[in-house]
Amino acid sequence: MPGKDTPPGECPQCWQHAHDRRAHRHLRPREDCPQCVEHLRNGCPYIVPKQKTRRR
Ligand SMILES: [Zn+2]
Ligand SMILES: [Zn+2]
Repeated sequence: MPGKDTPPGECPQCWQHAHDRRAHRHLRPREDCPQCVEHLRNGCPYIVPKQKTRRR
């Protein structure tokens, strides 16, 4: 479950993993996170959309 709100323009998973150490707690030291590796290689499948607020 997401614990923090992902800011617009960021990938929820990458952001969470970068800011929440618990995301990688199950990994051994120096062990790569499969999800992060996949995002690095293939790119992030989803980015939080930025709010479209048009103000003059
Ligand atoms: Zn990760
Ligand atoms: Zn990502």
